[in-house]
Amino acid sequence: MESFWIDKLDADEILIIDGGTGSELQRRGVAMDANAWSGAAALGHEALLRQIHQDYIRAGAEVITANTFGTTRFVLASAGLDDEFERINRRAMRAAREAREDAAAGPVAIAGSLSCLPPGNDPAAYPDARVEFDAYRELAALLASEGADLIALEMMEDTVHAQMAMSAAIETGLPVWLGVSTRLSEAGDRLVGFDFPNTPLAEPLDVLIPMQPAVVNVMHSPPEAVEPALAELQRLWDGPCGVYPELGDFEAPDWQFTQQLAPAEFVDLAVGWVRQGARLLGGCCGTLPEHILALKQAEQELLAARFA
Ligand SMILES: [Zn+2]
Repeated sequence: MESFWIDKLDADEILIIDGGTGSELQRRGVAMDANAWSGAAALGHEALLRQIHQDYIRAGAEVITANTFGTTRFVLASAGLDDEFERINRRAMRAAREAREDAAAGPVAIAGSLSCLPPGNDPAAYPDARVEFDAYRELAALLASEGADLIALEMMEDTVHAQMAMSAAIETGLPVWLGVSTRLSEAGDRLVGFDFPNTPLAEPLDVLIPMQPAVVNVMHSPPEAVEPALAELQRLWDGPCGVYPELGDFEAPDWQFTQQLAPAEFVDLAVGWVRQGARLLGGCCGTLPEHILALKQAEQELLAARFA
């Protein structure tokens, strides 16, 4: 199991991770599924998925995230792919492992992504709690058995579903990254769950931080929400934290690349996040290998910002 990233964060260094994977599959021509989004991509587009991971590694990513955001059994079942659960997830992990073998010049860790995505992104479509929890446990165990170095919980936004996913991730014994996803409320005066406009960000943080993640990330959040989210996070958490924002909008089932942020502007924002205490940096939906390359090229500037 790769654990160099723990040493880097313990030493207060900067850890660079990858950018968007699902959105990048779509940008490179893969049709997104109405229910499972990019979940099934490893079935018909494994070579392209491997290429995207390679591109991020060559750009400087030290952690890549397997394309398992939308691959729980209940999400795949809603797309008619229940029988393909094992094959899709094993291929997604194989694509990540092979990309690392082919492209890595130094240590690279593989994060298995675990989300609470409901079928079709519709909160009314969650299965019974028992089925839901078993599905998180099933996927987390598969990710561990296929060589994940850590579990990245992604888009944790509430207390009920997120707590189940986090319990399942912890059961694997792997380090767990808690990724919270937030945005400013319509009035612009408080932070709420990205898809849960009535749930303040503080609620999942209060429930999930005591479960002892290795890292807490503000992820899949618009850039303007990151600074206040980091400030709120740091009132509750003094361990390692990171940022990997989204750029654009989701109009089901496609990512809209509506917010173009030049790599240099992305770095400028990242410098500010490092000043606030973030040590892990990367991108989520809508970010490209160019953004990760820019972070890598700005590593000295980012290191210098740590204590500025
Ligand atoms: Zn995202």
